[in-house]
Amino acid sequence: MSQISYRIYPLQPEAHLFQVDLLIASPDPQGQHLRLPAWIPGSYMVRDFARNVVRLNAVSDGRELAVERVDKSVWLCEPCAGELRVRYEVYAWDLSVRAAHLDTTHGFFNGTSVFLEVVGQAEQPCVVEILPPEGEVYRNWRVATTLPLAGAELYGFGAYRAADYDELIDHPVEMGDFTLATFEACGVPHDIVLTGRHDADMARLCADLKKICEHHIRFFGEPAPVERYVFMTMVTGDGYGGLEHRASTALMTARSSLPGKGEKAISKGYREFLGLCSHEYFHTWNVKRIKPEVFVPYELSKETYTRLLWAFEGITSYYDDLALVRCGLIKPESYLELLAQTISRVWRGRGRYKQTVTDSSFDAWTKFYKQDENAPNAIVSYYTKGALIALCLDVFVQQQSDGEFSLDHIMRELWQRYGQRGVGVPEDGVEALVREFVGEAASGFFDSVLRSTEELPLEASLSWLGVDLELRAARNQNDWGGVTRAVSRARSPKGDLAVRCRDERGFALITHVYEGGTAQRAGLAAGDLLVAVNGLQVSGAKLEECIARLPVGSEVNLTAFRRDELLQLREELQAAELHTVWLRLSDGGEERRQTWLGLI
Ligand code: ZN
Repeated sequence: MSQISYRIYPLQPEAHLFQVDLLIASPDPQGQHLRLPAWIPGSYMVRDFARNVVRLNAVSDGRELAVERVDKSVWLCEPCAGELRVRYEVYAWDLSVRAAHLDTTHGFFNGTSVFLEVVGQAEQPCVVEILPPEGEVYRNWRVATTLPLAGAELYGFGAYRAADYDELIDHPVEMGDFTLATFEACGVPHDIVLTGRHDADMARLCADLKKICEHHIRFFGEPAPVERYVFMTMVTGDGYGGLEHRASTALMTARSSLPGKGEKAISKGYREFLGLCSHEYFHTWNVKRIKPEVFVPYELSKETYTRLLWAFEGITSYYDDLALVRCGLIKPESYLELLAQTISRVWRGRGRYKQTVTDSSFDAWTKFYKQDENAPNAIVSYYTKGALIALCLDVFVQQQSDGEFSLDHIMRELWQRYGQRGVGVPEDGVEALVREFVGEAASGFFDSVLRSTEELPLEASLSWLGVDLELRAARNQNDWGGVTRAVSRARSPKGDLAVRCRDERGFALITHVYEGGTAQRAGLAAGDLLVAVNGLQVSGAKLEECIARLPVGSEVNLTAFRRDELLQLREELQAAELHTVWLRLSDGGEERRQTWLGLI
């Protein structure tokens, strides 16, 4: 008999309420504290999951106990002699990978949203009974989770277990009438679970994911660190997102990103979905097992600061797409297109001149995860810039070791030294390890790429890999570059307001104003409704086209509403910045390029 057991069931799917019964055999005789995490590992923002606990009561020996709130996430039950039974409801209506969602079509939860920690007994094993909602209409519901079985059949309702609280909250659960397909990768069973309406080709999904999984397992070295793995996927019209766990990932994808039956080509949407799966699966090693020392163990009641997210998210972002070409799912040109887009994303904002990638990591809680209209001017992403640093680091290690080592070797060593042994990586651990491989030259390299806002040695690194980097103006705000020069028919140089906007009632609602551009100099601000350019109405859809027709250096008259006040602004039109990247294969470095892309 376990000391701690949970029972969770959809109480009222239509009211989005899970009910949880928690039984504690030996509660703290001084009074039992119960606590919900404030954040979920992998998503670095305080979300205060306790705000969704609707009501909670505690009973012992048939008597209702007094329950006191200690803080926003903690409850204290009055002392009792015998076992303690706690019952509470959790409101679940967050359609994301980070919390919990329940309706009459399915239920999904992360343990961080629904399982109260029995403070003082977090190291204890526990049992979790997962039950279906009541009613005939739910008779086809099944369960997908990597929680170890403790009586339940695979995909069935019933009893599961966890060795401790840390494990309990790291296996999300999906329940519903979902589509399920299974494949093996290096002998390990993997499930792909799709919830929501779709017409995906499951056989193709399995075949493609198998390639990715086997690539990653062999990258770090067999055997895989999991006994089974689940890709838990919510399909919606326009969803996108993923969150890594120790033996599964929760994903959201757009229906159109999944391959239809009979489709052979890889659409851009499907390439993005495969990249997402690759990213989350790589995390099975890099961040779920190779993890920052400050995450061992996690402190989930408040922010935990690390400067290492460039390594955990950036290096993972480098390898997610690279693995697609290395395992033959996409062509080298397709990979270069993705890489060019990553570079353009970093280069389009001036935030990269103001925030270092280590500061971006440290401040993820309040900046990267709480982006506002000024984000491109103020912050840099540790995902995208981190991925470019990983590329430069890969080349740096190869150059310094005369081709003996690459970033692949560093990752394997991180796995063997830290991940496999369950030891956290100190804040200087990655840099120290690279120094072991290539010597002190690494110190200057890291000072520059991690702790300064100097330009990365990207052109030189790519050139060494046999790839030429070229720049041009963006054709529109959603043009992130690629592999073709895409000669614009517009006059050259092309004028640009340097804004992002969207259509609003046939006008252009400004969402972002890039620092130093025409719009900012004129006095336009995010939130302004631009209604006319040179006296003619302008829509969000036509703004860029309209500006591109005007000569650079000419005076442009901008008419906009800020709140309810009409503004008449005038400014000299500046040329568009050349910060959109396109990549092409160069004449030299072919052998290094082929090795890099896994072609030889
Ligand atoms: Zn990630």
